[in-house]
Amino acid sequence: MERTLVLIKPDAVQRGLIGNILNRFERKGLKVVGLKLMELSDEILDDHYSHLSDKPFFPRIKLFMRSTPVIAICLEGFEVVDTVRTLCGITNSREAASGTIRGDLGMSIQCNLVHASDSIETAEVEVPRFFAADELTDYESVTDTVIYASDER
Ligand code: ADP
Repeated sequence: MERTLVLIKPDAVQRGLIGNILNRFERKGLKVVGLKLMELSDEILDDHYSHLSDKPFFPRIKLFMRSTPVIAICLEGFEVVDTVRTLCGITNSREAASGTIRGDLGMSIQCNLVHASDSIETAEVEVPRFFAADELTDYESVTDTVIYASDER
């Protein structure tokens, strides 16, 4: 089953929105298979945001992402990568659709509450970047046995 990485960013931690955001993933029917509070190092952020290293705001994002611990979450589900990106909304929170995390809760580009892997290939790199193998679990959920089973594929 597909897995993806989500980070609840420092602005959401500061604003007391951890539960609100986690609840949105749970009520959607996604399975939490990894969850922890984590202080990010410079090294992990250099890797994680390497695609933005030439941007003027790169040093600011790194400072921001180190300003509090973040919540790292590994979610599992059928087509979970795209589903979670849809739930998060586009990068600029001010323009993100209502009903999404960024659209409902944010007013900033940088402080946009969450990170979510943008493709299956990225998720396959990002999940092990933030979780050791023994920090990820596997269990059968009602979504696996009943909900997914009802769809024709
Ligand atoms: P996304 O997180 O939506 O996949 P990107 O990978 O393009 O977006 O950017 C990573 C993060 O860098 C964003 O989530 C946001 O926190 C920050 N960021 C992107 N663009 C800007 C910008 N123009 N100014 C400040 N921060 C930005």
